[in-house]
Amino acid sequence: MKNQIYLDHNATVPLLKEVKKSLIDCMDFGPLNASSIHYYGRKGKDIIEVARANISQLINANKNNIIFTSSATEAINLLFSNFETIIVSSIEHLAVLYSSKSDHIIPVNQDGIVDLNFLELYLKKIFKNNKKILVSVMWVNNETGVIQPIKDIVNIAKKFQCLTHCDAAQALGKININLDEIELDFLTLSGHKIGAPTGVGALVYNNKTNITPQILGGGQEKGMRAGTENILGIRGFGEAARLMGMRKETNCSQVKFLRDFIQKKIKKISPETIIFGEKTKRVANTLLMALPKIPGDLALMKLDLESFSVSSGSACSSGKISQSHVVSAMGYDELASNSVRISFPPNDFILNSENLITTQELDKLAQSWSNL
Ligand code: PLP
Repeated sequence: MKNQIYLDHNATVPLLKEVKKSLIDCMDFGPLNASSIHYYGRKGKDIIEVARANISQLINANKNNIIFTSSATEAINLLFSNFETIIVSSIEHLAVLYSSKSDHIIPVNQDGIVDLNFLELYLKKIFKNNKKILVSVMWVNNETGVIQPIKDIVNIAKKFQCLTHCDAAQALGKININLDEIELDFLTLSGHKIGAPTGVGALVYNNKTNITPQILGGGQEKGMRAGTENILGIRGFGEAARLMGMRKETNCSQVKFLRDFIQKKIKKISPETIIFGEKTKRVANTLLMALPKIPGDLALMKLDLESFSVSSGSACSSGKISQSHVVSAMGYDELASNSVRISFPPNDFILNSENLITTQELDKLAQSWSNL
């Protein structure tokens, strides 16, 4: 069988072997419903609390302020259902754009960075003392990997007494998140972006906030998200977070080496390639690029046939390629159907535990790109 090379880690990270082992241990243990009072129920509750502690340690949050959900998407929907006025950036993930239904959109510049002056002026314009406004900006963009100035965004929002949410699905495991150093009110996370199984996410909130649930029932997760907990998913998320947290600073030097290696090669042999967000701060694992005359879907299919699993920046859930609203928002309308994303493992720990990408393979990928 042909050896396919997976370079789509921003879509999902393969289940870590340590996480898989922790799931098998959990399955072997027996029936686990954390709502039961007996021995098995208490064991289930313990598993959830250990996961909560591991995740809270990774981001320096209060462990009591984490609600588990089925995904980051659900966590975002839960939060947004509590607000009427939500201000978002133009490059947010569809989970934010669609669930906020917002027409308060903050533009970005050509590098994909939120326009801070626009944000401040906009808030000044719509600010009304007693109105509950949420400002929601992602930490790291899933297509470009560009890192937003979240601290500055929070400081501006606070001037107008707005609450703040950050979609950190693509930041977790890639950059240091320390909620002690940043006054965010809400953060949302996704387990499968750090090597946990799909189907588990979290909403992290600060002490002062009341959240009205969307899902009602047995009162799980402090009444904020009913339904018997996904103990396997939560256990996997907690274990992946523990592994990420073993080093205080997220180490991405090898990942960065690989990303920069392919970027340099491609620029050398295909100088007409546009690299999005190249001049600004990006996470180490992501490369979004386009060739002016080559549609992204065609590039994707050709690279797939050459054994490289990459992604279009704009693939939607049906597998169809649509125009990238991120590329458009950065002012490259004419390239919005052309972007292709290569995403390496988020950090060196995951790269080393998968051990699957060599510079020879990247040479071949650069060659395939130039032959498109
Ligand atoms: N936000 C961003 C930036 C993402 O990249 C994703 C997933 O691709 C999500 C939110 C949604 O995460 P989940 O798959 O857990 O719903």
